[in-house]
Amino acid sequence: MGLEEYKEKRNFKTTPEPHGKGKVLPLSSRIFVVQEHHATHLHYDIRLESEGVLRSWAVPKGIPEKPGERHLAVETEDHPLEYAGFEGTIPEGEYGAGAVKIWDSGIFEPLVWEKDKIEVVLKGDRLAGRYVLVRFKRAGEKDWLIFRAKE
Ligand code: MN
Repeated sequence: MGLEEYKEKRNFKTTPEPHGKGKVLPLSSRIFVVQEHHATHLHYDIRLESEGVLRSWAVPKGIPEKPGERHLAVETEDHPLEYAGFEGTIPEGEYGAGAVKIWDSGIFEPLVWEKDKIEVVLKGDRLAGRYVLVRFKRAGEKDWLIFRAKE
């Protein structure tokens, strides 16, 4: 649990990656970020704090802002909490090469947090409201759908 594995795999004297010393907020108030990532294909990474890490999904079409739109969200590896503040350019030749900008950030309240379904209230500058992530079982193992719930 947490970042044990992340830390075991890395030598922080040589890697520029975050150490993972971030403060873990109480469960009722966790951080989220959406990063606009100009990689080979533009996509938006939504990251939700859980157990000291950021659960992460890449959303090619962006986060739906109106109820009724469902967008594919592909789960990616957990990221350290500090990644929520990351903006910059990943160099060519590196994984995910391209510019990363914070598109929105804030806190959220988890309403449902299950293996196949996550429901949260996002409180960001751009995104505010109830959002649902559900596993999209007919597609791939890492595929989810994200949509904004009707209030
Ligand atoms: Mn990305």
